[in-house]
Amino acid sequence: MLKIFTSEDRLMVWHIHQRLVDMGIPCSLRNEYAVGGAGELAPQDCWPEIWLADEEWLPKAKAAMDSLKQAAEKQFDWFCRQCQEKNYAGFDICWHCEAERPDPEIA
Ligand SMILES: [Zn+2]
Repeated sequence: MLKIFTSEDRLMVWHIHQRLVDMGIPCSLRNEYAVGGAGELAPQDCWPEIWLADEEWLPKAKAAMDSLKQAAEKQFDWFCRQCQEKNYAGFDICWHCEAERPDPEIA
């Protein structure tokens, strides 16, 4: 078993897990229902995690997650690199200076 993803964003973890399962990639959720314990655990120890059943699926899982993360980031508002104006998620160019939307960065 191999941990491939964790985030404090429970919904995103759940969503990514669902998509991986849909694609036939064997993986499971851990800490799905863990609630942040006061004090004793670091917050990230309570984050939901996605675990891959077998390492041989890693390239496929990574490729799937990259495209899922890109799709997720396109749903968020963004800031123009040129003039720093805020743009809504649906815009592909800056409303203010017409600079192109920067590509989402993959962590
Ligand atoms: Zn701009």
